[in-house]
Amino acid sequence: MKILYLNIIIVQISILLIGASPSSAGKPQAIHDSEEGWIEGIGNPKVTRLSDNVLAITGLYHTGGENGVTAGIIFTRESVIFIDAGMTIDSAEFIWNEARKYIGNRKMFYLILTHHHSDHIFGMRVFKEKGAKVISHSWLKSFISMRGEQYKKFLLNMLKWSTDKGDRIFGDVVLSVPDQVIEKDTILTIDDEEIHILYTPGHVSTEISIYHPHSKTLFAGDTVYEGMELTTHFGGPDEWRLWIAQLERLKELDLETICPGHGSLCTKEELDRNIDFLRKKLH
Ligand SMILES: [Zn+2]
Repeated sequence: MKILYLNIIIVQISILLIGASPSSAGKPQAIHDSEEGWIEGIGNPKVTRLSDNVLAITGLYHTGGENGVTAGIIFTRESVIFIDAGMTIDSAEFIWNEARKYIGNRKMFYLILTHHHSDHIFGMRVFKEKGAKVISHSWLKSFISMRGEQYKKFLLNMLKWSTDKGDRIFGDVVLSVPDQVIEKDTILTIDDEEIHILYTPGHVSTEISIYHPHSKTLFAGDTVYEGMELTTHFGGPDEWRLWIAQLERLKELDLETICPGHGSLCTKEELDRNIDFLRKKLH
């Protein structure tokens, strides 16, 4: 009876904490690990609480299969900052629904896109519809205004998918021009919380990484791949050298967790593995 009573108190305390933010300080903690396995359009997402106000979602759907996509959520006093939107509308809804559990009274939403590739931006409509302000590298503005309409079609051609299949898996993708663009390394202050946006070209020239000093977390986009080959075919030796320089720069950050664009959460050691991979390509 005593144990039961204690359990009830603990549950009540956790409800109070979770109501405010995805609380509980300390080490990364898995709070959702799908037992349903892989779901078309959603993947096999795993939600991890990284600190008192940061969640990472790894393993979201990717047309490439296992190389699941990552998204991040940072809760500040009055806002929610989403990092990347997933590759499908279903993935984006999954991300949104995870955030909703802790949203409380927060009414300001931001979506920061790490780069322009479909696997990181196709879900953006879901966040736009909630009123999110979209922030990205400046190049995305011209890319989306000129080619946003055709991007889904282009991808369907590349994958040799029918329109029906594309609609079924990607959903009703609508890309919109970012509301704010970043021209260089920039520190945004949202509700007194610093969000560092770092220009980290290499995978593509429009790549940015998001550093959250409060939780010592880096949302690296495709600047970092965990446990797998890096996707290098968007550039050549010059871009790979630039990429190495960025990875070296990221090593200087005070970091506890890296959320790579693809793969599992990792630490600085993975930066060295990525650097080694690129150096070998240069030989
Ligand atoms: Zn990617």
